[in-house]
Amino acid sequence: MKNLTINQLTQLVLLQAEEKGFGTKPDEINVSEKIALIHSEVSEAYEAYRHKKINGRDGFKDELGDVIQRVLHLCGIFDIDIEKEILKKIKINKKRQWQWDKMHEKHS
Ligand SMILES: [Mg+2]
Repeated sequence: MKNLTINQLTQLVLLQAEEKGFGTKPDEINVSEKIALIHSEVSEAYEAYRHKKINGRDGFKDELGDVIQRVLHLCGIFDIDIEKEILKKIKINKKRQWQWDKMHEKHS
């Protein structure tokens, strides 16, 4: 199962969602709840990193995997070609300028 495309992973996530009863169609889920659960996984990743737990169950890597799975689940439900969306955004960002001096964000 190595070297799958993002869209192939999306189909895999959707298949498991169907098997486990997590919903595969927009009318079978609550979008707000699914987005809140993505937030929850992002927070879990932050906490794991904060506590220097990088590997293993509930570690930083594991939680980032949860984030992606939940995002891909939504992509599958709404039939979003996320590879296309990411490539589109990379192209947009290539021409975009950020004013780092006006932001409180580390970038190096
Ligand atoms: Mg998690």
